[in-house]
Amino acid sequence: PAKLARHLDEDLNESQRAAVTAPDGYNLILAGPGSGKTRVITYRVAFLIARGIPAQSILLVTFTRRAAREMVHRLETLVGPGAQKVWAGTFHAVGNRILRRPAHLLGYEPNFTILDGEDQLDLVKLAWQDAGLSGQAKLAPKPDEIMRLISLGLNTRQTLADLVAGPHPHLADWLPQIEKVAEAYAARKRAANCMDYDDLLGLWLKLIREFPDQLREQADLFRHILIDEMQDTNALQVETVETIAAAGAGNLTAVGDDAQSIYRFRGANYDNILEFPKRHPGSRTFMLDVNYRSTPQIVALTADSIRHNRSGFPKALTSARGDGLLPAVVATADVYEEADLVCQQVLEARDNDVPLGEVAVLYRNHYDSVVLQGELVTRGIPYSVRSGLRFFEQAHIKDVLAHLRVAVNPRDEASWRRLLLMLPGIGPAKAAALFGKIGDSPDPIAAMATKEAMDAVPAKTRGLYAAFVGDMRKLLATDPERHPAEAINAILKGGYPAVVRQKYERPENRLADLEQFAVLAARYDSLERLLAELLLAGDVYGMDTVASSDPKDVLVLTTVHQAKGLEWSHVFVIRLVEDSFPHLRAVNEPGGDEEERRIFYVAVSRAKNELTLTYPSTITRGGYGPMTFATPSRFLTELEPTLYERAELDREFLPLEDDRPRGGR
Ligand code: ATP
Ligand code: MG
Repeated sequence: PAKLARHLDEDLNESQRAAVTAPDGYNLILAGPGSGKTRVITYRVAFLIARGIPAQSILLVTFTRRAAREMVHRLETLVGPGAQKVWAGTFHAVGNRILRRPAHLLGYEPNFTILDGEDQLDLVKLAWQDAGLSGQAKLAPKPDEIMRLISLGLNTRQTLADLVAGPHPHLADWLPQIEKVAEAYAARKRAANCMDYDDLLGLWLKLIREFPDQLREQADLFRHILIDEMQDTNALQVETVETIAAAGAGNLTAVGDDAQSIYRFRGANYDNILEFPKRHPGSRTFMLDVNYRSTPQIVALTADSIRHNRSGFPKALTSARGDGLLPAVVATADVYEEADLVCQQVLEARDNDVPLGEVAVLYRNHYDSVVLQGELVTRGIPYSVRSGLRFFEQAHIKDVLAHLRVAVNPRDEASWRRLLLMLPGIGPAKAAALFGKIGDSPDPIAAMATKEAMDAVPAKTRGLYAAFVGDMRKLLATDPERHPAEAINAILKGGYPAVVRQKYERPENRLADLEQFAVLAARYDSLERLLAELLLAGDVYGMDTVASSDPKDVLVLTTVHQAKGLEWSHVFVIRLVEDSFPHLRAVNEPGGDEEERRIFYVAVSRAKNELTLTYPSTITRGGYGPMTFATPSRFLTELEPTLYERAELDREFLPLEDDRPRGGR
């Protein structure tokens, strides 16, 4: 306790300390980025433990598992190993832990498993058939659309009827069928003893709503509840914790920044934070007004970036740090030069002793990182991707690479196998048998199309198979020296997109990835060279040499959404053009423009020392075809020009014999 008292004294400013040591009850801490909100909530847990509150009766909800681990780690240094007993984790992780024992009350066994996105879609498809929608396939809403609707309804506490009466009127005629799908899906999950992610929240609330003993038990257990990033909670999450707090000790501390609310698409609502005082009369609100993260220059730009939003609670921050550099805005000729610029500056920073792990590249859409990833691989700069799998490890990218590899080398067994297994109804044994025919033949395409081969394919797959053979015929007939972007575009015009739509979740994102892959490919002058450079870099088939190095020496690539709460010395925000950032679809939705601006605000506020904002002046779709001028993002043009400097790409730094074609052919 003496040690903690010293920490409370030395590590916090006065307003932070007031929040940390606030009396029991409902407390809200509402403050801008870098002001120490996460530090405050961590110290408050330590303060409670030091006051004698058992660690196991404290529930600390964070936005990511990583954040939870880091907070517990920090707690240990403050109060010792007892900190391990705190219930710290994401809403989903806590729900998972809570639901095990009483699972039987909800029709589950305690060893239920959790569905990932793909398994989930598979089950929804079956439920979709159960509900008789497959017979009306052309008109009926698709399984993935229904899946999203079910999820949105649950997370925002609206019924399916509410949703079709409100934001989804085009589905109104289908309401009874959609409800049937939802029921069939729930039944299938129970039968298989699986839950999806939403169930971890939805069934948790159901449990405490329908079983008073369960509510009592949890209210007695969680004497103190603390929530970080409250602005990104949804109605379901808030109702769950507030129900527990109200039934028990009534101790709830929430921390957040309404201007950083960026998960609207998952049902997050920043009113959860703004209306906290209304929902809890007598609660206290604390403000923090010093930013410890960023230089005054970055703080000033951050504040300016959100000025055009009408909604939101006004906050003024001053930086506790000494003067730094003005943020830089750089226009590059195209997306390749943008990737070059980032690589060049990352290497310069490393030469100046900034470890790669202190540098992050942020983007609005995962696919906006593809060209950069290609450049990083080619240059051998180690990087990790927080926003998902590394590009070349993703199934759909491997599928397309398999097409390309076969085009260059028709004897490539592993790639044929992958392609054949892509087709429904073809398993490992059939794929091996088919390859046996293809592999020995001087004309693999003819061998694939024989009657014997056709007969080996299950009847329902024959149509797809024939289309696939046709696509491969075209692909193999072409010159391996052909432009690789053309080859990828040919695949995208063939039968493969139908496979993506049928086989993978979030197919539209994957097709967008593939279009960016074509953009990346346009940089190489032949298919062989593309494959050689990408494959030799050891990046494609699991021989991942770079991700295994020390994380301190690995550049971070991440979407803004995955960057929340984090900070780096140097931050790049790339692809700041209209339609990318802000995202094309978002700006036409009501409230979309403000949501996108909050995403930009989160992005720029991650930087401690240096901030670089880049945009390509031209864009080509699919890597070839006419080049068009890109419009710089509104978030750049609306910035006060004195708050940044225009910088230029150091062209001398580029390799002189850079003979790679530059797209736009
Ligand atoms: P965000 O809104 O981005 O989540 P936050 O308000 O949670 O930010 P923190 O991450 O808690 O802010 O703090 C930002 C940085 O400032 C961290 O590196 C933290 O260690 C440091 N910091 C916070 N308070 C102080 C303080 N009183 N003295 C020195 N450093 C501090
Ligand atoms: Mg934080």
